[in-house]
Parts: sequence; structure tokens; C-alpha cells
Amino acid sequence: MKFRDYHVHLEQGPYTIEWMKRFLEEGAKKEVIEVGFSEHCYRFSQAKHLWKSNGSRGKWHDKMATEDIEKYIKAVEEAKRQGLPVKLGVEVDYIPEWEEEIKYFVSMYPFDYVIGAVHWLGDFGFDNPDYLCEWSSRDVYETYREYFEVLTDAVKSGIFDIIAHIDVIKVFGYKTEKDLSQVYRKVAEAMYKANICAEISTAGLRKPVGEIYPSQDIMIHLREYGIPVIINSDAHRPEDVGRDFDKALEYVKCFGFRNLCYFEKRKRFYYKI
Ligand SMILES: [Zn+2]
Ligand SMILES: [Zn+2]
Repeated sequence: MKFRDYHVHLEQGPYTIEWMKRFLEEGAKKEVIEVGFSEHCYRFSQAKHLWKSNGSRGKWHDKMATEDIEKYIKAVEEAKRQGLPVKLGVEVDYIPEWEEEIKYFVSMYPFDYVIGAVHWLGDFGFDNPDYLCEWSSRDVYETYREYFEVLTDAVKSGIFDIIAHIDVIKVFGYKTEKDLSQVYRKVAEAMYKANICAEISTAGLRKPVGEIYPSQDIMIHLREYGIPVIINSDAHRPEDVGRDFDKALEYVKCFGFRNLCYFEKRKRFYYKI
């Protein structure tokens, strides 16, 4: 089976062909024939205004926005010109109050695909270890509900081609016994209406929760609504490209999926599994 991995971050190295080749070489060992780079949009100084807040979210992003998006795009386009099997993507945080600004920003660049993600509930960076202690003072069920509400708004915004790590809210292993099936059904329904692709991410296997994103309870609804899927690693280093894709493949197959997606110039295509 040949794979494509479209959720890969270059941020621990420079925007150079050499660094990109390292990801391709490691991917090739795991049958990954194409790598899509999806740098965090918040790393770019040009995008600083998209995450603004008076609280800690704004401060955190001010520190992180050190890179130049033009350099990133040029590097990936140069790799394409040299015939390397790469795609130009981006991972963009959805912040409800900045929806219009995010939409406009994303439309200005020649991405092959745009990944939408939710990493913040207001000023609570719930998947960031720096905020871990805030979990103990929160109602887990209500936090899940809030997260999926924001995620559903991200789906409906029409900004994104792919929704990343759908239940990343479970990253530290905080879980609720309460029934969330109606919440999950609503997410899948919104994805169907927005004609958007769901990411099956192996990153969760490397996190405290130790599970693929999304959980089986969500997969059932994705399948029911016929949502297109893509298997991604969310690699931040070359060794993680294509990691655990064999497990993810079995996972999607057992829910009855028969195709995976790939993208070019924001158009979706399929390949058989
Ligand atoms: Zn993410
Ligand atoms: Zn990511």
C-alpha cells in the first residue's frame, strides 16, 4: 500500500530542500510516496493578528510568530520544481471571533489544501502541557461539548479542506462517561454538508491518551455520513512521517472505508485502499 502524509511540520528545522528531503526519505521507508507540509499558520509573522486576545492566547502567539510565510511557500514551490513529491499545505487554528480574517488570509496563498484545527477554547490551550493544570478545575463533559461546538463552527466556516485530529480534546486522557453520541452525529452531519474531509491521525498514539484520533464512537458517524478520510501523522520530525499508518489503515478499513483522499490546488481526489 502506498500512502500520502499531508500533516507534516517543518518547524524544528529550516525551510530548505535538504530538510524537506529528510522527511521524504523517512516517509519512503514506510511506503509514503508524497509528503504534504502543513506548517502551523501561527508561526508566521504575517498571521499574528489572527489569534489576538487580551489573555494568554494572544501572548503565546506573539512569541511563536517568528517565521516568514513567503520563505515557506518559496521553499516548497522550489521543491516541487525540482520534482520532489511534495504539496503545499497549512494547519490553521480556528478562532471563532477571527473567522473572516482567517478566511481572507488563507485565500491569499496558493495552498494545495488547508487543514483546520481547534487548539484553543478562548484562552485555554487545552492540548498544550503548559495548561495541563487548568484541566483539573474544569468539568470534562462541558469542556468536550464546548470543544465540539467550536469544531462544528470550524467545519461550517467553509475555510478548510480537512479537519485535523477531530477529538484532540482527549489528548491528556481526560474523558467523560456521559453520552456524546448526539454531539458526534452533529459534527459528522456538518462535515457532510460542508463536503469536508476528516483526518485519521496517528499522532494520538504518541500522546498520553495513546489512541488514534478520532475514536471509534466518532468513526461510526463519519462512515454513516460517507465522510471522505485521509490518514496523517502530524509529524514534527522526519522519523514520524508515516508512523503507524499500517494501524490506521486497518482502523479505517474495519469501518468500511475504501478510499483515502489527496489534494491538489484545493481540489480533492481519491485513491483506493
Ligand atoms: Zn494540530
Ligand atoms: Zn499539526
